Amino acid sequence: MKVLVINCGSSSLKYQVINMNTYEVMCQGIFERIGLEDSVLTHKNSLKGKYVVKGNFSNHKDAINLVLETLSDKKYGVVNDINEIYAVGHRVVHGGEKYSKSVLIDEEVLSYLEECVKLAPIHNPPNIIGIRVCSELMPNIPMIAVFDTAFHQTIPEVAYIYPIEYSLYENYGIRKYGFHGTSHKYVTQKLGEVLNRDIKEMKIISCHLGNGASICAIKGGVSIDTSMGFTPLAGIAMGTRSGNIDPSISTFLIEECGYTAEEANETLNKKSGVLGISGVSSDFRDIEKAALEGNKRAKLALDIFYYRIRGQIAAYAAHMGGVVDAIIFTAGIGENSSITRKACLEGMNFLGIDIDNNRNNVRGEIGEISAEASKVKVFVIPTNEELMIAKETLEVILA
Ligand code: AMP
Repeated sequence: MKVLVINCGSSSLKYQVINMNTYEVMCQGIFERIGLEDSVLTHKNSLKGKYVVKGNFSNHKDAINLVLETLSDKKYGVVNDINEIYAVGHRVVHGGEKYSKSVLIDEEVLSYLEECVKLAPIHNPPNIIGIRVCSELMPNIPMIAVFDTAFHQTIPEVAYIYPIEYSLYENYGIRKYGFHGTSHKYVTQKLGEVLNRDIKEMKIISCHLGNGASICAIKGGVSIDTSMGFTPLAGIAMGTRSGNIDPSISTFLIEECGYTAEEANETLNKKSGVLGISGVSSDFRDIEKAALEGNKRAKLALDIFYYRIRGQIAAYAAHMGGVVDAIIFTAGIGENSSITRKACLEGMNFLGIDIDNNRNNVRGEIGEISAEASKVKVFVIPTNEELMIAKETLEVILA
């Protein structure tokens, strides 16, 4: 049973075909620069290697057409006929308040996703285009939407309502939604499997630390709070995003510093975070190197990143009643940077958290990094959002 997973962005499209009997990735690819000159499709068949096509693909329809042709290509493809694809799982960033689970896509779902465009103006429109084009090109194959926000729909009102005029929530839907839900859900389930414990009986804090970063508190197997908010700009400091700051800074930038609203948005999303503080890079490998070489602002950027993560972990431990059962690190930084993991948990013994420095050397694979005596188990668990999307896709169809 083969499931095609699609993550459609405004000028790029990522995909994987996963064999759901073995969970093996049969092929994966990325189409870049859709709608621009020199578009390029890089396709990798897991057994037969890489295949690159360059050209001018002026729209998503032409691009997806080529992807489907490639999937059934005699040499590099994985199916003889595209109808061998059992279902298509689409990553959709925003499912608003309506979707707390993945859903079979029909016109009603699509029109609700259109309504959600105002909540995710950058991400939802290309997600919708990807769904529409795939539905047109594969009319006999069911399409499923898997939302980044769905896992967080269990967050209670006390955590998702902002302390602002309540009518702004009622009239405009301004509330915390949270993101990275597919990743937090995947690593939490994986932890349950690794520990052979029921996650419904556990208190877990999941730290997804990638270029975008968020922390999630999971109690009884469901999300009860997360650091991202109305948009993915909120929460801890990130590669280029500011995370939580005094909201008056936005208006100050516009009224006193001469920024337009668009420029203010751009600086907080693309020029802030560890890039903004360090002036070096948004990539932790570069910043860690610069800090080791004595760059003070690189060190400050890292210290701020760790400081905010520590504070968020402690806050979630408090909300969950003290000592938690497990902390998970995932995504690019969480999976690879032993420096970050150690620094984030420094001085957290008061919460029963104790790291073993040798175990912490793990990179990119599942590993326990807590000391034998640590009350809290700390794990590195590589995320796999595509597999989670494929699993959810199948669940919706087989339900
Ligand atoms: P992601 O968004 O999950 O793909 O994570 C990407 C980020 O992970 C990069 O921007 C780097 O900051 C970080 N990263 C990847 N590998 C390493 C590494 N070996 N050490 C530190 N950070 C890393």
